[in-house]
Amino acid sequence: MNWKESAAAVRWNIQPFIDGGYRPSKAAESFDNINPATESTLCRVSAGNAQDIDEAVRVARGRFNDGCWSELPSGRRAEILTRLADLIVQHKTELALLDTLEMGKPIQAALNDAENFAPMLLRSWAGFADKLLGISAPITGSALSFNVYEPRGVVGAITPWNFPSVNAVYKFGPALAAGNTVVLKPSEFSASSALKLAELALEAGLPEGVLNVVPGLGSTVGVALALHPDVDMLSFTGSTTTGRKIMEMSARSNGKPLLVECGGKSPQVVFDDVTDLDAVADAVVESVLWNQGQVCGAHTRLIAHQAIADALLEKVVSRASRYAPGDPLDERTTFGPLANANQRDRVKTYINGGLKAGARAVLRGSIQESGGCYVSPTIFDRVDSQMAIVREEIFGPVLCAQSFSTEEEAVRLANGTEYGLAATVWTRDMGRSKRLARAVKAGHILIRTSGKEGPELGGMLSFEPQKASGFGSELGLRGLESYSTLKWLNFNGN
Ligand code: ADP
Repeated sequence: MNWKESAAAVRWNIQPFIDGGYRPSKAAESFDNINPATESTLCRVSAGNAQDIDEAVRVARGRFNDGCWSELPSGRRAEILTRLADLIVQHKTELALLDTLEMGKPIQAALNDAENFAPMLLRSWAGFADKLLGISAPITGSALSFNVYEPRGVVGAITPWNFPSVNAVYKFGPALAAGNTVVLKPSEFSASSALKLAELALEAGLPEGVLNVVPGLGSTVGVALALHPDVDMLSFTGSTTTGRKIMEMSARSNGKPLLVECGGKSPQVVFDDVTDLDAVADAVVESVLWNQGQVCGAHTRLIAHQAIADALLEKVVSRASRYAPGDPLDERTTFGPLANANQRDRVKTYINGGLKAGARAVLRGSIQESGGCYVSPTIFDRVDSQMAIVREEIFGPVLCAQSFSTEEEAVRLANGTEYGLAATVWTRDMGRSKRLARAVKAGHILIRTSGKEGPELGGMLSFEPQKASGFGSELGLRGLESYSTLKWLNFNGN
């Protein structure tokens, strides 16, 4: 496929998609949509405003109240969402191209998101649509006491730019499966695929106005959605700073319940009983450099036993140094540019801060200052737990290596940041793995003994982020529960 030709042929159309069609934004301001691979402008985008959100929420409220979706039998909802998953696969090249152009994801990775990742998740939630079962209390006589789940109503969703198509599905998938209507605000850096998904949802049979997408800036559209008094729940994924603003805005408006995912600083803890250090090094590099390091679950802290720390680090550095960023439209590229210039500045600031604080760069990545946001991997050792590069989420290709001598020290280092999203522990010692699985504070824990990967569960099980990483579950049946409210119904006896 000639991706460059296809890229040149894209007709950009970024405006609110409300009630089943495109509506010009009411906002006067606009901004440039930039291709991070070249830093050239793809198109102008309206900043969006509170009126756009008002209109979308009004439509979503109307569609919720008329029951066209919430009162459809759950099996029918599942069918429509499954059809949407099929359509996403059919339109994978369009979706992938939009994501690659807007955020720099290598085209093969973007195709994988559209062909496998997003549809797999959507099918999983669709499959749970008719399994939201309440429980009944064991009451004798003719009285009845039981739980029912009901959709919350109008769900607002705000997503980041790192997996544009997948992020959109991650929010509207469980929300729609549970019977809600949705107003989605995608990231201003990568709104196009979410709009395309809303079009495909109509084609799949979703009634008009059930999924509305309002692109624009966080400071205009995002704020309006978070503050809206008629939004029944807000689901957010993004930075910790914005996540906390979202909590304040909920408190200041209608106290809407929240689901908040604010990133992480996940540890990869390696004990000296693991023999295959090559497999560990592969996994470390894969985790920290996937999507140019722009993944909330990236394992950006390598915490290795001192007996193997140097040997392992050498292997990690040798692998990471082979990651040279390339043109994301080239099918051979596995490592592209960062998603935008802000992100490049942010990564640069952290790297310089780390060097200033005394960390040693055992691999020093180059940073292209213009004409493309290319940043190659950097690896630090001689770091201490107080440094910003160790404590804070950088969201780029930067790894910090630490070492330990005792199990207690390993746990202390692993738990040494305010985040608690994911963690990996490498050990062959069964007792130790069970102790660490409990002692490490993170929502998703991988225990590994070898290079063999864990089971592919396709979104069946869920977890909840811990500490500053957020709260609320998104995957699996628990995801649908998050987007539902639980009622307790009590019927007295005759
Ligand atoms: P990132 O740095 O990864 O872009 P952000 O938290 O800034 O993370 O952005 C995540 C999402 O939150 C984006 O859709 C963005 O537009 C939105 N956003 C940013 N600031 C605000 C805000 N003050 N209120 C609501 N949404 C916001």
